Amino acid sequence: MERGKSSKNQGATKSTNKSGKSSGVSKKENQSLLRKFFVEELQDIYWAEKHLVKELPKMQKAATTDELADAFGDHQAATEEQVTRLEEVFKMMGETPKAKKCEAMEGLVKEAHGVIEDTEEQTATRDVALIMAAQKVEHYEIATYGSLVQLAKTIGMNDVADVLAETLREEKEADELLTSIAENSVNEEGATEEGTEGEDE
Ligand code: ZN
Ligand code: FE
Ligand code: FE
Ligand code: FE
Repeated sequence: MERGKSSKNQGATKSTNKSGKSSGVSKKENQSLLRKFFVEELQDIYWAEKHLVKELPKMQKAATTDELADAFGDHQAATEEQVTRLEEVFKMMGETPKAKKCEAMEGLVKEAHGVIEDTEEQTATRDVALIMAAQKVEHYEIATYGSLVQLAKTIGMNDVADVLAETLREEKEADELLTSIAENSVNEEGATEEGTEGEDE
């Protein structure tokens, strides 16, 4: 445990409110409120990851290049492991795994569906659009896991923090791979591509 160290840079654990007065909540109560919030956020990302397990095959199927399709396929397998990893985390917390709808991930996935509808099959532009949509998803996950790792440390669950850090690393890796696919091939092809449905409206 490194509570002293982590609570120093965690504003959330301060027991004073905005006006500087004592919040009336003891350190112990604050700790249990944080724990409850942490579990709720786990339920949110658990829903999000399970949603992505279902969605990534659609993105894989929609991709133009094998390179991008393979990236989605690999990340789908990683995402299944991330779901299992979250179940492990729930167990470490003494909680039963429960999914609570993540409104943000639902919205990001709707955007991905939208770009598939709005772009033509077998075009580089389709892949540019898919990469952009997928990076929005990865960035949301990076923000979530980054915060969860820090919060796990704050509540003294360093073993949980280590498990979540593994997923955080995978999300960053996925994001970087998408960037390199975009930089190496897809964006350039997209820039020279002619639409087959006439001029842009
Ligand atoms: Zn869907
Ligand atoms: Fe994930
Ligand atoms: Fe969420
Ligand atoms: Fe991901």
